[in-house]
Amino acid sequence: MRIGALKEIFEGEARVAVTPSSAGHLQKLGHEVHVESGAGARSGFSDAAYERAGVIVHPTAAALLAAVDVVAKVRPPTEDELAAMREGQTLISFFYPGQNSELLEQARARGVDAIAMDMVPRISRAQKMDALSSMANIAGYRAVIEAANNFGRFFTGQVTAAGKVPPAKVLVVGAGVAGLAAIGAATSLGAQVYAFDVRPEVAEQIESMGAEFVYLDFTDQVQDGAATGGYAAPSSPEFLAKQLEKFRELAPEMDIVITTALIPGRPAPKLWTADMVEAMKPGSVIVDLAAERGGNCDLTVPDEKIVTENGVTVIGYTDFPSRMGAQASELYGNNVRHMLADLTPAKDGALVHDMDDDVIRGATITRDHDITWPPPPPTVQ
Ligand code: NAD
Repeated sequence: MRIGALKEIFEGEARVAVTPSSAGHLQKLGHEVHVESGAGARSGFSDAAYERAGVIVHPTAAALLAAVDVVAKVRPPTEDELAAMREGQTLISFFYPGQNSELLEQARARGVDAIAMDMVPRISRAQKMDALSSMANIAGYRAVIEAANNFGRFFTGQVTAAGKVPPAKVLVVGAGVAGLAAIGAATSLGAQVYAFDVRPEVAEQIESMGAEFVYLDFTDQVQDGAATGGYAAPSSPEFLAKQLEKFRELAPEMDIVITTALIPGRPAPKLWTADMVEAMKPGSVIVDLAAERGGNCDLTVPDEKIVTENGVTVIGYTDFPSRMGAQASELYGNNVRHMLADLTPAKDGALVHDMDDDVIRGATITRDHDITWPPPPPTVQ
């Protein structure tokens, strides 16, 4: 098949869905690889680098779309991008069908077979295609870098001739993929790290990374914060009150707060309230990775950095993976080529869209003029 990556048109988006290195893997599967000129430029992959990898570079999006069978992208397509695709073409990108029902209907009507990278089931076999996790990992790491860049002090403690410096205290709220990456980055910079999650089963993981799990004085913590299928469920009012009481106690002590708490299908829970921000020291930094879903912090403004009257910086950027475009493209490109490897079982360049395969079925959201989302629950773990 002929597989081609479009240049992302979303303002500021640096990522690209195929890199010169992932192109090499796709070629080994028997595919021909194409890109739109400039598609990798903002992530450091020049047209010349693609050409050296045997990739065919097209001057425009229209030329690329005319030349390929499979279109690879990062961001969900725009209406115009979908309208420019032709019947029978396959699209592989993030899509978020639950939030983009009109786009989903447009793909169906157009006869575009859409594979949503965000719909890859989170089962062990599919981890290599789990783009939500690879991007969350980068977001967690980058949140710490962003916090450090906006913090006027060291993260690590030091004893020097010029004086003794205590380590920065970092609190990570939510220890899923992004939270664990933030814990790893903050501990490796030498900070003293604390972390909280409603799923107590992550306590061991947090502690094994050298951070301290924040326990609540709440007898039902295990049942109450219990997860459903590995994910968090909304907390009871009593549990939430205990959690906020604990955070209020910690707020004056923490230099950096990184919030990542999410519950699937719901707005982000408000966990870092305005009075907690007010209680923090000047110079402290909050990075709210839940900004896109409304934010965990009362004061978060999505896509902005604000400084409060008491000198606390609140960062609500929603483009952390794109801020590390080269790394994010490399990992996303790998997720996409693993998806294409599963779609090319004989490694002969022929796509086999096996709808009995849980992973392919789960990610396929339109097929042959049908909406195939949501999928039935996976049968294999
Ligand atoms: P997520 O982005 O949905 O949520 C982030 C974290 O916020 C979660 O750990 C959640 O428990 C926590 N949270 C929710 N409400 C909270 C609150 N009120 N206070 C504090 N924390 C709160 O989660 P994610 O990163 O997508 O991962 C969630 C789960 O899925 C984890 O168990 C992870 O191991 C699992 N997972 C499995 C696979 C796989 O098997 N392939 C891949 C990725 C993730």
